[in-house]
Amino acid sequence: MFFSKKPNREVYNTPLWRSINPIDRAHILLVAEKIKPAAYCGFTDLEGAKEYLAQELNVFIVQMRGHRTYERGDETLVFPHRIFTICASQKIFQIYQKLSEVSNLDRAYDVEGKLLGYPRCCRKEYIRPTYQEKFNQYILRLIRGKLYTFKIECVQRYLEGKEIQKEFLYLMPTQTPHSVDCSSSIGLLSKWKYAIDGFDPKAAKALVAFNQVSFNKFKEQADYLKSKGVASEQFNRGYIFNK
Ligand SMILES: [Zn+2]
Repeated sequence: MFFSKKPNREVYNTPLWRSINPIDRAHILLVAEKIKPAAYCGFTDLEGAKEYLAQELNVFIVQMRGHRTYERGDETLVFPHRIFTICASQKIFQIYQKLSEVSNLDRAYDVEGKLLGYPRCCRKEYIRPTYQEKFNQYILRLIRGKLYTFKIECVQRYLEGKEIQKEFLYLMPTQTPHSVDCSSSIGLLSKWKYAIDGFDPKAAKALVAFNQVSFNKFKEQADYLKSKGVASEQFNRGYIFNK
């Protein structure tokens, strides 16, 4: 949609590139390759590299957004006080600037999700979660931590002894698919996977390890439910417990 020239891919082989956090690299790479409109990165220690990356990768790098830390296992992604936003074009940057003026928060979330490349179905679920209507209250009370449809479905799949599609190991930390069956997410993530695996295998490895921690936790929750005698069909909202 908003995209322009190809990046200088030599950048991906430089020591400067390798000095960037690998998960940040995965983000920047997708924007540079024009398969993600925008991304958030935390590389404040690389203030000097900003102009070089912007020029060679043909992206716009600006400082905005607040503090946030994503920690999973050995992989940590820290978004400091002012994080960098990488945009694939000036047009995207301009939309970002206008975002702070949007008074309707749902609308602002939707536009932000769109700029990050997330499918419409997933943005919709993020803004108006549907898990309360889909799943049994008894099961929801047994699942620990923040509840959302994708997580609950992952737990259910693991309980059934099934695996989750490997594309989901390439999720970005701010990204939540609306469902484990979301074909838009799987299509998008397989494109991202191809690019990250191809241009920066070490960044791919770090991103996969980062996401694997979440999936391991979902597996643990499935094992816990199994130990409680929970069966997959009991996840359904209409399921009647006789006990
Ligand atoms: Zn979706």
